[in-house]
Amino acid sequence: WAGNTYEWSKDVKKTLNDVFRIDSFRPKQLSAINSTLAGQHAIIVMPTGAGKSLCYQLPALVKPGLTIVISPLISLMEDQVRSLKNRNIQAMLMTSTSPKDETLKALNVLKDKNTKIKLLYVTPERLAKSKRFMSNLQKCYAEGRLQRIAIDEVHCCSQWGHDFRPDYRYLGILSNMFPKTPILGLTATATSHVLTDVQKILNIPGCLVIKSTFNRPNLYYKILEKPTSQEECLTILEKLLKNRYKRESGIIYTNSIKDSEELAQGLRKRGLSVGCYHANMEAESRSNVHLKWHEKSYQAIVATVAFGMGIDKPDVRFVIHHTISKSMENYYQESGRAGRDGKRAECLTLYRMQDVFKISTMVFSAVGSIDHLYGIVKYCLNGTLCRRQLIAQHFDEDWGDTDCNKMCDVCSYPNSNIREISLESHCKILSGIIDNAHTQDTKVTAQKLLDAWYLKGPVPLRHKGKEPNFSRSIGEDVIAFLLVEGYLIEDFHFTAYSTIAYIKKGPNMEAINDDNFTLKMPLRKYTEFH
Ligand code: ADP
Repeated sequence: WAGNTYEWSKDVKKTLNDVFRIDSFRPKQLSAINSTLAGQHAIIVMPTGAGKSLCYQLPALVKPGLTIVISPLISLMEDQVRSLKNRNIQAMLMTSTSPKDETLKALNVLKDKNTKIKLLYVTPERLAKSKRFMSNLQKCYAEGRLQRIAIDEVHCCSQWGHDFRPDYRYLGILSNMFPKTPILGLTATATSHVLTDVQKILNIPGCLVIKSTFNRPNLYYKILEKPTSQEECLTILEKLLKNRYKRESGIIYTNSIKDSEELAQGLRKRGLSVGCYHANMEAESRSNVHLKWHEKSYQAIVATVAFGMGIDKPDVRFVIHHTISKSMENYYQESGRAGRDGKRAECLTLYRMQDVFKISTMVFSAVGSIDHLYGIVKYCLNGTLCRRQLIAQHFDEDWGDTDCNKMCDVCSYPNSNIREISLESHCKILSGIIDNAHTQDTKVTAQKLLDAWYLKGPVPLRHKGKEPNFSRSIGEDVIAFLLVEGYLIEDFHFTAYSTIAYIKKGPNMEAINDDNFTLKMPLRKYTEFH
């Protein structure tokens, strides 16, 4: 507690204790609260679960007037309004699905000088598309009752974020229409690129940015080599659940409904008690699965990313990614559901190149999504840098000489199993295969390229040299490395049934004809973990 520095400090402390029944602030909460109470525009960047909501909920009670909260997800807003009401805080929500009388009530709140409502939650499209709402809001502002505008998931403004929502673009008008009302943006996305873009879109360039650390010291990060067959994957998962994570709770993430069902069924056949969770299930069976996991009658949930919202289980001891996430942001959020209680928990990823193509053909149409995907591929291929340092770098956080405490596979098995591969001659061969295919009027997928490189597959595509002196799975890592470094690029083609990623030469391939060209890939051997 920093003392009674501001005129509102006593009220802040009292509200924290009496209304929220919390003893002390978490890092950066107080500075966020003080700056917004001082009337500054600010963006707060904190990992999911760090406690962003308190940063606008508490100020809403300390000063007179109304706080508008803009949030993209109706279910999240409903949760918040419910929990505020449980604390006897007057809050309401207004969405496109609200019944008519609720909508009228909310519109009246804006007009009513004597309203008791402190927080009004609205979706961005309500704000953008309802003239009536906007004119009432203007009235509220003119009467000096618009205390604050909080914008949750504020990264949704930016196309560069991982979750762009077109309606968020309209929010740019707010700072001009209500110049005296402080705006408080909240997000878990921290890349400076996105933050600058968000400031520009909201017309609050250079506003205060308050960031808390993204380091989760109690999470252990590790990459495992993913086997080619589902059976072998099941064997790995079975061993982990039966031995290493015996009697502990966790989540297994995968990227398709089919995989989640197959894996859950496979694990059940092997005698494990697991639930399955995806978006195609009825709401009732989803909450049933969630409940059983909460009560520990299921050891794990095998889920797609649809399993995310509202997980407040503190003792999740493992989060295993059977398939890589589609970006580092997603990975951070998904893996971050482990170890909320502060005790050691493990975040494992089964990595294999095929999954990169599976996901790239699914996400390639969204702006920037391939770059996001390659970010996580780099994280997986990395063999030399501390994994939490890579995460910190991704979130533009100063890492300095922060100690990992051997809480990642790179730091706990240093250097001994690193080997460098020189890639010049291999690049020449791969480049030759692609050119050769081109002259034969055909295109190569990554699989075909690998086949030809390893002297398999159609003879006309093969090269005249020797096959690589390393295993095919290392060959796969090499191709993935060349992709993320821009030596190779994916070229997407559509058919009626699917999207195919062909491999082309990237701009960096030019450099290979330069005699001084060297390219080394640090290669780590995956360490066992059963
Ligand atoms: P975020 O929006 O950052 O994901 P929430 O605002 O939902 O996180 O907060 C996550 C949980 O942490 C909530 O249950 C909240 O009540 C709790 N919380 C927030 N601040 C504190 C605090 N200072 N001390 C204890 N619990 C807190």
